[in-house]
Amino acid sequence: MALVTLSDVSKVYPGGVTAVDGVSLEIADQEFVVLVGPSGCGKSTTLRMIAGLEEVTSGTVAIGGRVVNDVPPKDRDVAMVFQNYALYPHMTVQANMAFSLKLRRRELGLSKADIDKKVRETASLLGIGDLLGRRPKALSGGQRQRVAVGRAIVRNPKAFLFDEPLSNLDAKLRVEMRSEIKRLQRRLRTTTIYVTHDQEEAMTLGDRIVVMKDGVVHQCATALEVYERPVNRFVASFVGTPPMSFVDGRIVSRAGGLAFDEGTTKIPLTGGMAERLSGHTDREMVMGIRPDAFSVEAPVERTSNASGASAEGAARLAVRIALVELLGDRKDIYMTTKAQTSLVGRVGARVSVFEGQELTMFIDMDRVHIFEPGDTGVNVTFVRDGVAASAH
Ligand code: ADP
Repeated sequence: MALVTLSDVSKVYPGGVTAVDGVSLEIADQEFVVLVGPSGCGKSTTLRMIAGLEEVTSGTVAIGGRVVNDVPPKDRDVAMVFQNYALYPHMTVQANMAFSLKLRRRELGLSKADIDKKVRETASLLGIGDLLGRRPKALSGGQRQRVAVGRAIVRNPKAFLFDEPLSNLDAKLRVEMRSEIKRLQRRLRTTTIYVTHDQEEAMTLGDRIVVMKDGVVHQCATALEVYERPVNRFVASFVGTPPMSFVDGRIVSRAGGLAFDEGTTKIPLTGGMAERLSGHTDREMVMGIRPDAFSVEAPVERTSNASGASAEGAARLAVRIALVELLGDRKDIYMTTKAQTSLVGRVGARVSVFEGQELTMFIDMDRVHIFEPGDTGVNVTFVRDGVAASAH
């Protein structure tokens, strides 16, 4: 069992920087968990404390049920892959991959032939079997990355720790290597903890993703959960491209229900959303709108309702289009409201919109979130009985 558990772990660097602040995480055996967040949020420090490369200031780190706070890195049985690969330049690929096994040959009871066999098997798994005689400088970036991964795998450790392993590769190779790492982990089933600042990489790789800011975990959940039910504005803004747009306003009563008053427009709130926001009337709030929640036509369900009320009750906002980016199959449109709030929408490539156009955008209210004010304002859209439904 290679369960990795962090219990209330903090790290204060000499000089007083609190890099990690009370992080508790339980990473299941065989799970692939990605730590993601902006630069400086404490991802690498967390990973390095698991590896034993940084001391824990308070709290405990346990691997496979054993507290390892005082266990040196080499005895933790984890393998780390770094951004800069950290290969030995004077050694061949074969020697690089065999290095850690050779060091522990007696302890592991391996003969030289056993090590050769393991290295060959791992190299062929990674498609670098024909590169074993080369030195790192004679390899491409992608090949070096495979060697670094191979060196980690060959040891058959309890856990793999990846620290931004793909950031030195070009965009195309990064996407290729990303799916390779995912496939490899599916095959080997080794507990994996992976650090990246790239939310797309996090979303595509992780069984669960851990979104961090200022040394604190804000949400730990599946990619879908984090995207669809972000616990607060920070998580909502960090995940998804183009990012969610935010509109300041106030919840107000209107005939027959509630509305979000954006200043110039009152956007009707209906159904469950109105129910959940009834306790927030007359308070400043923030509406978060995903790019694909905007459309130039009224949503079908609303126009074809039984009362024939057409788009009367639909949520809409008057905007001016500042910029249109055509991206092949879609267009990203950058808009401003009358109150000069910037918004980003995403529509089909064939939708006719142009820069300078003034029009009414419809909003699919099922894709809208309402937050408390502030950068980390709580998402009240899913609040049930005062508890954010997705905050677990
Ligand atoms: P991330 O990996 O998310 O970019 P880090 O874990 O590297 O973040 O850093 C978290 C915080 O700790 C940052 O403010 C960084 O400047 C600080 N930090 C990192 N390493 C050290 C160190 N060796 N000494 C002092 N402060 C550090």
